[in-house]
Order: sequence, then C-alpha cells, then structure tokens
Amino acid sequence: MKLILLVEDELELADTLVDGLETHGYRVHHTEDAEEALVQTAVHRYDAMIVDWMLPGMNGPDLIRKLRDKDYVAPALMLTVRDSIEDRVQGLESGADDYLTKPFSFEELLARIRALLRRPSEWSAIDELRIGSLHMDTATRKVAIKDAPVELRKKEFDLLRLLVERAPAVVSRTMIAERVWGSEYVSDNAIDVTISGLRHNMQDAQNGGDDDIRLETVRGVGYRLHAD
Ligand code: CA
Repeated sequence: MKLILLVEDELELADTLVDGLETHGYRVHHTEDAEEALVQTAVHRYDAMIVDWMLPGMNGPDLIRKLRDKDYVAPALMLTVRDSIEDRVQGLESGADDYLTKPFSFEELLARIRALLRRPSEWSAIDELRIGSLHMDTATRKVAIKDAPVELRKKEFDLLRLLVERAPAVVSRTMIAERVWGSEYVSDNAIDVTISGLRHNMQDAQNGGDDDIRLETVRGVGYRLHAD
C-alpha cells in the first residue's frame, strides 16, 4: 500500500484529503507543519508527498528544498493559492514535482498523485546501498555495519555514500571536495576532519574487533573503502 505524507495546516481540507485518499486505498500521514514533516520523513519512506505552500513556520518550498538536500526524493505535489508564473517556477525549483492551485477538485488531486506515483523515480534504485556488511539507507540516512548503527554527521554520511558508490575505486580529494562540499575550494583541514570522523565512527560501530569495513588512505591518490 502506498504511503503518502500530507503537510497541510488547514485542518478541514486536510481531513477531506485524508478521507478521500484512504478511500482510494492509500495510507496517509498528516502533519500540520514542516518541522513535524521533517521528523516524519526521517523515519518513514513516503511514496509521495502533498505539501501546502503556506505553512506556519517553514514554508512548503523550503521544506522540499531541505528534503532534497538530504536526498529525500519522494515525489512532491505542492498545493498553493498562488498562481503566478514566478511562484510556479519557484515552487518547482525547490524540488517539487508538480503544482496544484487551490481550490481544486479531489479528482484533480487524485489524478496528479497517481501520475506522480507512476513516474519512474530514482527513489527505489538509490535508497539502499550495500558493500560487505555495511548497509546505507539514503532515504532515512541510516547506516549500519553488521546491524550495528553508525552515527554520522551530514558530511561524513555524504562522503561515505560517495565512497560506497565508487568502491572499490579510489576517490581523490578533489572529487571529495566537489561531491561532498559542492566546491573545489574546501580547506584540506575540513576534508581531513571529515575523513577521520568517518573512520572513527565506523570503527566505533565495529566495536574494536576486526574491521570488516575500512576507509583506506592511498597515499598521494586518495581514499577508498575496503570491505572484507
Ligand atoms: Ca496553508
């Protein structure tokens, strides 16, 4: 059963949408604001999201931008009373996939949601990465080695993802700078700190035993992930 997140502060509308969607066989989680949506998306992998533009606190486009920054790629339909071209562009640039102007009919919303759910997404393809006994869920950003959770900061997670995707190849510091920081102008120190943080946290998860998964330094070339 498809699971949908609805982020809408107008409770009457939200109730109507939840009822309608459930009648059509979807499961729906409803939150009234973006902060709660961030909490829910950290735990659940939604198949689609319906996000109101105007929300108390963080608005809909900012919420979607934040989720996209974390590689949370569930397709998003944005609801809004605005209808200028400029707003539409801004909404889509935030990472929303489609756009519906209030007021709308439930049938219209249902059609848009069905279209989003049909769309081939990179979602299922990228949400799980494995190498040896290491498992990464890029949707929830959880990492485990032999089922022991690995606690990582954001940059450490992004670095690990790059290394896993490239493994067993060596990744250069330049590539790390560009992919993890989005810029080649990153201090050597920032990269060093992130590498040693990642290495340390992976060792912690392996509890001082033989490390199945190691982050190796290839002198003068870069880094690679080694899995036994
Ligand atoms: Ca609203």
